[in-house]
Formats: sequence, C-alpha cells, structure tokens
Amino acid sequence: NIQIQLVSRPTGEPTLDNFKLVEAAIPELGEGQVLIRNHYLSLDPYMRGRMNEGKSYAQPQPLNEVMMGGTVGEVVASKNAAFSVGDKVVGMGGWQQYFVVDANQRGVIQKVDTTHIPLSAYLGAVGMPGVTAWYGLVKIINPKAGETVVVSAASGAVGSCVGQLAKARGARAVGLAGGADKCRYVVEQLGFDACIDYKEHRDVKSLSAALKAACPDGIDGHFENVGGMILDAVMLRANAFSRVAMCGMISGYNGEPIPMSAPQLILVNRMKIEGFIVSEHMEVWPEALKELGGLVATGKLKFRESVAEGIAAAPEAFLGLLKGRNFGKQLVKLV
Ligand code: NDP
Repeated sequence: NIQIQLVSRPTGEPTLDNFKLVEAAIPELGEGQVLIRNHYLSLDPYMRGRMNEGKSYAQPQPLNEVMMGGTVGEVVASKNAAFSVGDKVVGMGGWQQYFVVDANQRGVIQKVDTTHIPLSAYLGAVGMPGVTAWYGLVKIINPKAGETVVVSAASGAVGSCVGQLAKARGARAVGLAGGADKCRYVVEQLGFDACIDYKEHRDVKSLSAALKAACPDGIDGHFENVGGMILDAVMLRANAFSRVAMCGMISGYNGEPIPMSAPQLILVNRMKIEGFIVSEHMEVWPEALKELGGLVATGKLKFRESVAEGIAAAPEAFLGLLKGRNFGKQLVKLV
C-alpha cells in the first residue's frame, strides 16, 4: 500500500521535500470493516491550509501520517453487510492506494452510481467542489434572472460550476482566469458570457476597466476564490446591494498578505459579504447533489479534469494546483 505522508511543514510555498512516499501493509479487515482500492485522489487548495501548524477552521494535517483527502474507489473486500465487493464509493481515503474503514460509522463512505456519471466526477462537479459552487451561488448570491455574476478561478473545479449554475438561473456569468486558453474554454465550452485573463492586468485600475467592459450593468453577485487584486477590482464595479460569496483566497494561501484596498465600498455599495465552509452545511448537500448530478448526467453541466498518473505524482500535482498549472479539477489517477 503506497502512501504519501506529510513529513515537514512549509514556510511559504510548499516543496516536494514536505512529502515522503512510504510503503505500508494493507491492514487486516475486522468485523464491520471494508477495504477500498482508491481509483482517484482529489487534490484541493484547502490542503495547503492543513499543512500549517496553527489551527484554522480545519485541524492541521498530522506529520508522518498519510495526507488526508477525498477519494473515489471500489470495495475490494468487505466484512460489512451494507457493502459488497465491486461497489463504487466516495470517501476520505487519503493519498494512498488502499484504505480500510469501519463502514458502520454513518457517512464515512458513500456508494455512488456510475451509470450516467463518471466515478471521478464525484470528486468534482458532483462532489465537494460542486456543492461549494452551489452553496455560494444559491444560498449567498441568489442571483435573479438578468443579474450579473462574476467568479474568479473560473476554469477550476468550483468556478466552472458557479458560472454554469448562474447561467441556468438566467444570470449573466463573467469569469476571471489565468491565461488565454483557460478564458477561451470558459466562454466557448462552459458558455460563460465573458472571461477576463487577469494576468494581462498589472493593477486594479486596469482589471476594473476590463470588468466594466465585460459587465456593462455592473456586478450583482461575486463568487471569490482568489482575493487580492481581483476582489479589489470587483468591488469597484459592484452594484448597490450586491452579494459576495467568500469561498477562497488562494492568492494568500502561502502566507502572502492580501489587503483589501477600499473596504469603505462595502458600506457605499451596501454589500453583503459572507464567508462559508461547505462541510458546515451538510443540510444542502442532498439538494445540491441532486441538481448537479442531474445536470452532469444530461450533459448540461460540463467539467474538465487535470489528471496526474500514479500516487508518486500527487505532491508535484498538488504544488501545480497552487500555481494554476491545473486546468480543471485536479485529480490523481491510481487505477
Ligand atoms: P481550482 O480547480 O480552481 O484550482 C485552483 C486555481 O486557482 C488555479 O487553477 C488557478 O487558476 C488559481 N490560482 C492558484 N494560485 C493563484 C494565485 N496565487 N492567484 C490567483 N489565482 C490562483 O480549485 P478549486 O476549484 O478546488 O478551489 C477554488 C477555490 O475554492 C479555492 O480558493 C478553494 O480554497 C476554495 N474552496 C472553498 C471551499 C469552502 O468550503 N469555502 C470548498 C472548496 C474550495 P488560474 O490559472 O485561473 O489563476
């Protein structure tokens, strides 16, 4: 059972040295337990926060233990009547090939139906990132038809769903992404109305001018994944009573300061800014997953994946995710 452990904590940018590949035995199955072979690992930006010592909203990742994280896989042995060999499941299997769970604990693994939805999608559009998009858009921004919604990291796992869900509700969707390829994909494949390459803009003034052109009626809702210059530029174009879903601030995950240059605009524009953590809203998951699953199964919600091959590739792919080298949901394929 090949695993990736965290062996040291980064200061600033993480490096490959923070991780170590180890080989462990596959544990014996006890009563009620299930052995799962992971097919895909999910790599997510929140994992960077967990690499730090200090307690954030999530517990730190313990040193010299398997990196925690979401996985999809297949039951390969079972001593639990509720699970059979061959069942496809989603769970928190971590960065390793196999894991054992006590399947009597409610919610620790969930069976998934792969008839119309590919297994890997349960880590993306029909999983945690999709529900994140759904929660921020529906519960915080709540766009009306004709309103304008902006989303940063628009080609990514969360952002790509935000814009498509906004379009499905009759809103205008405008993305921000790094590079011409990502922007072209966001407009041509995902159906956003416009996408701005933020890397072409050196300062807030220039980015805000681009937003003005893409959002002629101003911005009613903003889904923030990045922070910093992007949030500043959006605030300059925000309409009265606009809503901001504060989902992520990836531009500061390595400890970079992310000041807000004009907080008075919150007052001037009577804005509502709300942060949220998707795992604290389990009550919306069934409704959100039903909509997301239906849209994916019928081809109405599109998604893209960046797939690294083999467990050993996980650390490098994770570093890439924090630098925008992924294009869509970052996964590691094991089988
Ligand atoms: P993505 O698939 O969007 O990948 C991350 C993307 O962020 C990169 O591709 C890159 O896109 C962009 N990025 C990386 N570094 C920077 C930087 N320094 N400055 C600007 N952009 C950067 O990841 P997810 O969709 O999984 O996550 C998106 C956001 O949602 C993250 O902030 C994450 O922490 C947050 N999140 C929050 C949750 C919650 O419960 N609140 C739950 C899940 C996710 P580009 O090349 O376009 O810049």
